[in-house]
Amino acid sequence: MTRRRPFASVARPSSSSAQGYGAAHRAWRTAVLDRDPFCRWPGCAALATHADHIVPWRQGGAQFDVANGQGLCAGHHNVKTALEVASRRGGGAGRSRPREAHPGAVP
Ligand SMILES: [Zn+2]
Repeated sequence: MTRRRPFASVARPSSSSAQGYGAAHRAWRTAVLDRDPFCRWPGCAALATHADHIVPWRQGGAQFDVANGQGLCAGHHNVKTALEVASRRGGGAGRSRPREAHPGAVP
């Protein structure tokens, strides 16, 4: 008995299918990346590997409309997602209220 796993003979699921996205999402992703082979973040020329919703579908953006998609590199997709999370939490800088002085801070 071997402990090797048959990677070469098994089609690996794409990250999107591994995450439970369906065929409609995969088709949308493929169409977006076919249209945008390079990252659309200003000043970035990296290959686009992520299809991003310009208007997040959780915020009402069309989930499978190619016009609401853009190709981004992994790094800029992470940046955009982090900015969206910060925005949802009530502040572009990621804080919803001013920092309070630490009780032990010297004035
Ligand atoms: Zn980029």
